[in-house]
Parts: sequence; C-alpha cells; structure tokens
Amino acid sequence: MKKISLAIHGGAGTLVRGMMTPEKESLYKAVLESALHRGYMLLESGGSAVQAVEASVKELEDSHLFNAGKGSVFTSEGKHEMDASIMDGKTLNAGAVSLVTGIKNPISLARDVMEKSDHVFLASKGAMQFAEKLKYHLEDEKYFYDELRFQQWQQLRGTESFKLDHSANKDSKFGTVGAVALDSDGNLSAGTSTGGMTNKQFGRVGDSPMIGAGNYANNKTCAVSCTGSGEYFIKGVVAYDLSCLMEYKNLSLQDAAEELIQNRLLKLGGDGGLIAVDALGNIAMPFNTEGMYRARKSSDGVNQISIYKN
Ligand code: ASP
Repeated sequence: MKKISLAIHGGAGTLVRGMMTPEKESLYKAVLESALHRGYMLLESGGSAVQAVEASVKELEDSHLFNAGKGSVFTSEGKHEMDASIMDGKTLNAGAVSLVTGIKNPISLARDVMEKSDHVFLASKGAMQFAEKLKYHLEDEKYFYDELRFQQWQQLRGTESFKLDHSANKDSKFGTVGAVALDSDGNLSAGTSTGGMTNKQFGRVGDSPMIGAGNYANNKTCAVSCTGSGEYFIKGVVAYDLSCLMEYKNLSLQDAAEELIQNRLLKLGGDGGLIAVDALGNIAMPFNTEGMYRARKSSDGVNQISIYKN
C-alpha cells in the first residue's frame, strides 16, 4: 500500500506550559487522539482523503473543547455563527459555508456544497436554505453552549473588541479545528471548521471558509489548514501561498510552511499556525504562538500528539 498520512489541529494561540491542569491536558489529548484515529482508520481501509478529513473534523466539532461546532465562541449578539470549508486536491473541487447557525457539523455542510451543489461558497441565510433543502436537523443554541466560551464573551460583551477564542484570558481554550490527509490513491484533502472570533460582529468572516486563505488542497503540491488571526491569513492568502512556494519556487513543504508562518505572516502582524501534508505524505505543523493543539500519524510510523513547542 502507498503511504498514507493524516494531521489534525485544534487551534493555535497563547498557551503556556503549566497553565492547564494535567487532567485538562489529558482531555484535549484524548479528543485529538480519537479524532486522529477516526480519520486514520478510514485511510487505512482505503477511504478517500476527503472522507478522512471530514471524519476527523466532525469528531473535533462534536467536542465542546474546541471552537467549532459544539463549543463555538459567542458573537456580539450572543449567538454562534460558524464557518467551514473542505477541498479535494484531486479535482480542486471545494465547498464552503459561513455564518451558519444550528448546524451540528458545518464541515459536512461544506462537503455537501462541494458535492451536491454547483457552487463553492454559500453564506449565511442562503447556506441555511441549502441545509434545509438537504433536510439538515438544526440544534438549538443550548447544544453549542460552553461555560468558558460564555465567560470569554462576558469580558468583551458591549465593546467593539473581538478576540481569538484563546487570547481573551489566561485560562483559555484554543479553538478552530482542521485536518489534512493523503490517501492511498495519492489524493490530498484539507478541511477547516470554526466558530470564528469571540464577540465578532457585522457578519465578520475569517479565513477558515476561504479557499486559499485558511484552507487549500492541490495534489500537485499540498493540503493545508490554518488557524490564528484570520484577517492576516486572508491578507497573506496563506494556504495558497504555501502551495505556490512549492509549485513555483520548488520549496519543500517544511521550508515553505516555516517561511509563511515564521516570516511572511509575522511581518503582516499575524499570529497562528498551520498543518500541511504534501503529495509524498510529509507533514509540517509550524506555529508562531506559544502552542498549537496538533496530532499526526503516517504509515511510515510517525505518530505524535502535542500542544506546546517541541
Ligand atoms: N482563523 C479563525 C478565524 O479567524 C480563528 C482561529 O483560528 O482560532 O476565524
């Protein structure tokens, strides 16, 4: 069997070693492990990269620990508006949704946009109409509630500030989730899902659902999922730039990923990280913050679950 690889993330941000209790750390690692396992099992049994990415992201969305699906951050109006996207590196087909509410797994709705519509990106009311057409069950607001997210919102409520879910206070949780995969047929895929930023307003949309900014996959080069201050990832068109550095400048995945996160993004003023896999199954997971929830597994024996640097 050809090499298979999978990497996932649960957000990057200001997380310092020792800030979390060992119990909390184990909880995060357990969810990461099970999300990694779920996608990897699919790859092992011949499933596609798209299937594996959706399965891993769904598992992360279903955990209240991460800022995606259940546990999404609060908007300035006290709601949960979620964004997600998925891309198939073989065909360059892509699907994305933004500002959806009540959807348990926005990544699945994004996949449905890719596979069951002639469009790439559906937003807000229109995305909800599409979900209704496909008979999606809608969860009520309670399903998405998480006490810590609520407290983070209380600190910003009534102000014009908006924050990454993890930078609002010390005892903070990271959030946005993503997965990238190489399947046994040599196809790549990337998926990203998020609740966005705490106290966001005016229909703010970040990089996560934007193909080329927070998410991208192309069999020629790599599959990428980003996390961090979305506005900067949009300005830097980070996910596509990674692919371009590989395609047009022949940089390795690792070198291109480091250049983007440690140099270009920092120069723009942005913080965050990304996970990426190339067509050979190599994985890069750079970040310029204190930590990034991340995990990876490949058929050559690589298996890692980490939160902090090194
Ligand atoms: N990139 C996401 C956004 O700006 C947030 C995050 O990664 O935590 O919506």
